[in-house]
Amino acid sequence: MKQIATLLFSFLLVFSVQAQKPRPDAFPPVPDTLAPKVVNMASTLEEMASWNRYPTYEVYVAMMQRFAADYPSLCHLDTIGTSVQGRLILSLAITGSNPTDNYRPEFLYSSTMHGDEVTGFYLMLRLCDTLLSSYGTSAEITNLLDRVRIYINPLSNPDGTYRSGNHTVAGSMRYNANYVDLNRNYPDPFGTDPLNPLQVENEAMIQYVQNHHFRLSANLHGGSEVMNYPWDSFTSFQQLNEHATWWKEVGKRFVDTCRIYDSQRFRDVTSSGYINGGDWYVISNGRQDYFNYYHNMREITMELSSAKTLSSDRLPHYWHCMSHSLINYIKEILAIPNDTPVDITEPANNNAFRVYPNPTHGHVTVVTPSNVYHYNLSNRPAGIYFLTVEGRPVKVVKL
Ligand SMILES: [Zn+2]
Repeated sequence: MKQIATLLFSFLLVFSVQAQKPRPDAFPPVPDTLAPKVVNMASTLEEMASWNRYPTYEVYVAMMQRFAADYPSLCHLDTIGTSVQGRLILSLAITGSNPTDNYRPEFLYSSTMHGDEVTGFYLMLRLCDTLLSSYGTSAEITNLLDRVRIYINPLSNPDGTYRSGNHTVAGSMRYNANYVDLNRNYPDPFGTDPLNPLQVENEAMIQYVQNHHFRLSANLHGGSEVMNYPWDSFTSFQQLNEHATWWKEVGKRFVDTCRIYDSQRFRDVTSSGYINGGDWYVISNGRQDYFNYYHNMREITMELSSAKTLSSDRLPHYWHCMSHSLINYIKEILAIPNDTPVDITEPANNNAFRVYPNPTHGHVTVVTPSNVYHYNLSNRPAGIYFLTVEGRPVKVVKL
């Protein structure tokens, strides 16, 4: 009852805050430059070679297919699902040259669930190209791909991005084809909104995440420049994220590295360049909190350019100042502190799952013969839980 009362109280707080506070990312974006904006499109693969254009939808799909065709030993192309209008939601699975190593952690980048926030779309395509073409020549990238499975979804709302047609991102919009804001459409710590049915794009993303075991992810946006870490549903005063200290360090590393190349970046929300999401503004039904709360993933929202649709001639500069930070953020997965010691070298006993509970902090790690799973029950009340692990129930008691 106390829990219910607390939740209810928090809900009322959130509701009242939302009713009064503006939503900055719904405001017109701040121009990054006074020069006139251009949106040049590449309508052939060759025109993307200089990386100063946005791809048409057909070129985007062809690029993803070509990555998989050119580097078959390093990656394959997953179809996460299709949009309302039938466009593909794609993910390049860069699983490296040693696919039998099941203990490598899984990482996810996903961009542009707001269709007009296309800087991340471009950056993710360029990241795919850099990771694949550097394998075997760059020790840094080779080591990273050998240790982490990297999944890159450059465009999670293609109908919003290509609202004006497949030939251009000019005229793109925030919403999907049903005019739903996909970042207000996930279940959140308060549950689901019955008046806001789950959209096919998000349903597909949830299924994709359920089929994997992502430990770290990022959700790329635009309209501001700030590293927005969990929670979005609460202010830090209401509910501080248990990893808030770690998130601040991660945010600082990302921003500081970027500022080596351009000292003016990440300054339009806070001077530090990072912020607790709810302290900026509270939102409901966002993807970040869904993944952090329900899947024990660590997901951050990266707002990467003040202009939602960046002038295409500015794209190379944003890659120049952010590529190192984007690669370094993937490496953070290797330094996430373990909740409990896990000895993955010990052979599994008779196919049984080994369970390492940490009741004090509400974390549980389950080791199966093929994988390692982390669960976060820290925000749940004490009691008995049955976690579904590889289709089998695992009983856990939260004290
Ligand atoms: Zn956004």
